[in-house]
Amino acid sequence: MRLTIVGCSGSMSGPGSTASSYLVQADDAAGRTWSVLLDLGPGSFGALMNYMEPRALDALFFSHLHPDHMADVTSLQVFLRYHPEGEVGPVRTVGPVDTAERIGAVCWLTPEEVSRQFAVERYTPRQMLTVGPLRITPIPMNHPVPAFGLRIEGPGADGGTVTLAYTGDTDACTEAADLADGVDLLLSEASFQEGREDVRGIHLTGLRAGQLAAGLGDVADGVPDVDPEPAPGAPASANDGGGVPARTAVGRLVLTHLPPWTDPGVILAEAASAFAGPVEIARAGAVVDL
Ligand SMILES: [Zn+2]
Repeated sequence: MRLTIVGCSGSMSGPGSTASSYLVQADDAAGRTWSVLLDLGPGSFGALMNYMEPRALDALFFSHLHPDHMADVTSLQVFLRYHPEGEVGPVRTVGPVDTAERIGAVCWLTPEEVSRQFAVERYTPRQMLTVGPLRITPIPMNHPVPAFGLRIEGPGADGGTVTLAYTGDTDACTEAADLADGVDLLLSEASFQEGREDVRGIHLTGLRAGQLAAGLGDVADGVPDVDPEPAPGAPASANDGGGVPARTAVGRLVLTHLPPWTDPGVILAEAASAFAGPVEIARAGAVVDL
């Protein structure tokens, strides 16, 4: 499984990167490469062309529908519909409630026009979706709008199974701890800075992202359980009943979604104060083979 950071600037595009977009790819047993794009923030469609032919995209997953995570769907729609070599679509597109409506609004399209390029599905919390060899489980997060983190399992370079978790946008919560529990790579947002933004229920700080990576992600005081009805058969949360969190630290932490006004060194130091494992700041164009 391969992660390519197409764009990682938080909340807006920045001088060194487009807004949020991440490409996850894996080969199946027959050698076919499957490509799933997580989010499509402003500017990221053009950057995506550095890594793949956009018409070969197998699926598009939106963590949520804030514009900094989806607005360049306008570029993808035009590319798929009007490419001189022929119209392509619909592409499997998965997101929270109202995904088709939001695409229609930002692209100024009728529902029929949206459906020509986008076959839209809505997440069911914790219900796994399969794209080729990738198994993707959406878990509701703690953000002001419906938002999901994505836990992705796929084939590893050594023939085993590897796991990647992408938080999308979230503050700390039990569900984020479920998402991150023991993954090989945690791609965690870290938009806020300790002592600078005190508002809760929107974003992680570097410190809270580090705590999440360390297996302490549900030690957030007063943060409600935003997923009161897990899907049938879903494992009970480790802290249900008020017990001590019992999570496994992640293998590696990549901090992303830092706004352009933030000093990455401060966020990195916050995270490293809570998480002893490998931690780095996301960089546009970086490729991680798992
Ligand atoms: Zn957001």
